[in-house]
Amino acid sequence: MKQYDYLIVGAGLYGAVFAHEAKKAGKKCLVIDKRSHIAGNIYTEPVEGINVHRYGAHIFHTNNKAVWQYVNQFAEFNRYTNSPVANYHGEIYNLPFNMNTFNKMWGVVTPAEAKAKIEQQKAEAGITDPQNLEEQAISLVGTDIYEKLIKGYTGKQWGRPCTELPAFIIKRLPVRFTYDDNYFNALYQGIPNGGYTAMVEKMLDGTEVRLNMDYLADRDALNALAEKVVYTGPVDAYFDYKLGALQYRSVHFETEVLDTDNYQGNAVVNYTDAETPYTRIIEHKHFEFGTQPKTVISREYSAEWKKGDEPYYPVNDEKNGALYAAYKKLADAEPGVIFGGRLGEYKYYDMDKVIEVALDVAAKELA
Ligand code: UDP
Repeated sequence: MKQYDYLIVGAGLYGAVFAHEAKKAGKKCLVIDKRSHIAGNIYTEPVEGINVHRYGAHIFHTNNKAVWQYVNQFAEFNRYTNSPVANYHGEIYNLPFNMNTFNKMWGVVTPAEAKAKIEQQKAEAGITDPQNLEEQAISLVGTDIYEKLIKGYTGKQWGRPCTELPAFIIKRLPVRFTYDDNYFNALYQGIPNGGYTAMVEKMLDGTEVRLNMDYLADRDALNALAEKVVYTGPVDAYFDYKLGALQYRSVHFETEVLDTDNYQGNAVVNYTDAETPYTRIIEHKHFEFGTQPKTVISREYSAEWKKGDEPYYPVNDEKNGALYAAYKKLADAEPGVIFGGRLGEYKYYDMDKVIEVALDVAAKELA
């Protein structure tokens, strides 16, 4: 008999959901994290009374009612709706691509006029069967929007030209022929009042958590503590990169406190030109309609991940997809270990999907 039923590596959303479910099922868990705090990349910390999203903006949105009800057990969500603004060399456009964007770009007023304009640009570009992100984008919204709002931003975010990226990335972004600036096509949306850290704290209530513990540096001793492991770190690191390193995109933030109550008038402003070195500026107080006298902003820079950096996004191209498939085989054959989350499964998961998958896996595991 070992001391714990589960050792959960990573105190992020996946680990916290699994821990909560396991505890409910009467299992004993130990959650460890190599950082000095819980909540993984959804961690928020107060600065000047403002909850700062330390690892980038996280806006909870889902179409899954069960997931929405699940998170609402741990926090009360506000009515925040993501409506980012794009700044292209000082020209301002509404996102996602909708009638407000089309009107500003072309002066069109009706959906029929907007569709005609897009069809015309798509025909001029000669695209019938889109093969990559560039072709997909042009066929969805035309060349002008592609050039001003997609090409530079996507190139900066992924460090690759749009012609080398898969079409599906852009499908995350809705195209709408209504005057609706709501970025997400989701039934439920909001930010937890008091920040995400408090929400994860509630999920982990009653579970032992040890911070500043690097699983990979001490895995034999840690494995000895528990019957099974739930591993939410990078899958390639788990296997000591023996098949090669998966690529990730990393982001870093330049965060500043400013002596003004309102810097940019919106939580998220994307800089969609190729020349501005950062991809976006987040003004954190607007996620919670803050009225503090000061403000906190974070400029977000995207970079290729190298060892020692924080991995954020899996790179969804063929080469990495094939390498991940090989790691997945090893992972499936690894006895007593469950691999989960964005890094453990090398998937561009949103938060709601992470919860859905963690609940599914937990239900099967704990049945
Ligand atoms: N995108 C874009 N211009 C924008 C915002 C997004 O071209 O102003 C594209 C870009 O290819 C990006 C994708 O849409 O990689 C997904 O963006 P999203 O904001 O969903 O990414 P996340 O918030 O997960 O970083």
